[in-house]
Amino acid sequence: MTATRPYIYYDLAVSLCPKCLKRVYGKIIFEDNKVFMLKKCKEHGSFKVLIATDIEYYKKCRQYAKQSEMPCKFGTQVKYGCPYDCGLCTDHEQHSCSSVIEITDRCNLTCPTCYAGSSPSYGSHRTIAEIEKMLDIMVESEKEPDVIQISGGEPTIHPDFFKILDIAKTKPIKHILLNTNGIKIATEEGFAEKLAGYMPCFEIYLQWDSLNPDILKKLRGADLSDVRQKALAKLNELNISTTLVIVVEKNLNDHEIGDLVNFAMKQKCVRGVVFQPTQFAGRNENFNPETDRITPTEVRQKIIEQQNIFIDNDLIPVPCNPDALTMAYGLKINNEVHPLTRYIDPTKLLEASKNTIVFERDEKLRDKLIELFSTGNSPESSSKIFDSLMCCLPKIEAPANLKYENIFRILIMHFQDAYDFDVRAIKKSCVHIVHKDGRIIPFETMNLFYRNNEVYLKQLQKEDESFTF
Ligand code: SF4
Ligand code: SF4
Ligand SMILES: [Zn+2]
Repeated sequence: MTATRPYIYYDLAVSLCPKCLKRVYGKIIFEDNKVFMLKKCKEHGSFKVLIATDIEYYKKCRQYAKQSEMPCKFGTQVKYGCPYDCGLCTDHEQHSCSSVIEITDRCNLTCPTCYAGSSPSYGSHRTIAEIEKMLDIMVESEKEPDVIQISGGEPTIHPDFFKILDIAKTKPIKHILLNTNGIKIATEEGFAEKLAGYMPCFEIYLQWDSLNPDILKKLRGADLSDVRQKALAKLNELNISTTLVIVVEKNLNDHEIGDLVNFAMKQKCVRGVVFQPTQFAGRNENFNPETDRITPTEVRQKIIEQQNIFIDNDLIPVPCNPDALTMAYGLKINNEVHPLTRYIDPTKLLEASKNTIVFERDEKLRDKLIELFSTGNSPESSSKIFDSLMCCLPKIEAPANLKYENIFRILIMHFQDAYDFDVRAIKKSCVHIVHKDGRIIPFETMNLFYRNNEVYLKQLQKEDESFTF
């Protein structure tokens, strides 16, 4: 008998060398109940990268693929092949579910971990004219963008911050998110009250990360516990829709995942929590990519293990970009969260939902979910009305007029870096950043190539012309 490999060979990927960012082929293999990528750079040797700790879930993501939705307009042609043509190029396989507009490079913090490399003195603020142009580029590309994130740096320190929000509000944008570290909300009198004026269809993406001061110090370079609590108290008081954003690193805050979900569910203003494994890009001072990277399936497993509301069936791949996004939905009623996703038949979900990251923007699904839990329908009659979308029904005493504040969402949002980079998945990237030169660039490739690395990218393009697709 001939010898066998110690693993199962599953797929071939086009990836990157984590050291020089040159394209290399990678093998996707299953070994010890885990998924790894094996790859080799001529100059930097071999790499074995853990990409998932749950083979079944990794395979399940492939079943959630659906027809790609295109932007109204592409920005670049295919010349060098993915990921060297971003703009979006005509070969990209998903529109912008969520677009990031960076209104400044500057920040009032200098976090050891920052993909944008921001600090109080780094770069500059964009002008109003530049920002308006960026917003218009997104409207041209999406017609009515689902979600625009006003970001930075720290967007609230832009001297024309509220003017920029006013301008954004005049555009046909369905939902505006403000990415912020919360310092201004916590410390400037009247700031949160002004933000409240932009509701509805306006939400705060509040950097949260941890409930532990030492961890915050390590991640953010400062103990922000007090700032966080003050900001959240303000947002709760004014009931401004808020999502808590948790950057996750292995052996740093991954033991807190369940506590963070439980904490978030208790906050009046909080509509959900986003877990974002650190992408190894930009400034990563206290981060060792060999030991500190955490895979999305580990985050998923820890959510299931560390709290007792959401179970395995609640955390499912999001069809617009299943490799990168895992989601669970619940209804928050009288401070209790009732998970919903387990009741959604995946095949129906694929048929019914639009290609979008936020299901509450999908009117058909949202209306059905909301109607389903209205007191006007008994669970029996609801079941008849909604069995086109639901396979069974929870029995929940719900108040009439369910609103956005009754939604609670868990999202795992994974941005691949040069370690786990897989062109197959990157082509489906649906969180995009508007480059200051007007190109629309996937979040992942922006931070690896297009933010500060374009001179080097040109060299890679030249050297790598023979890499065919
Ligand atoms: S990531 Fe998308 S836009 Fe960028 S090169 Fe690949 S296909 Fe084109
Ligand atoms: S991670 Fe956010 S808060 Fe920290 S320096 Fe970067 S932009 Fe500022
Ligand atoms: Zn290399």
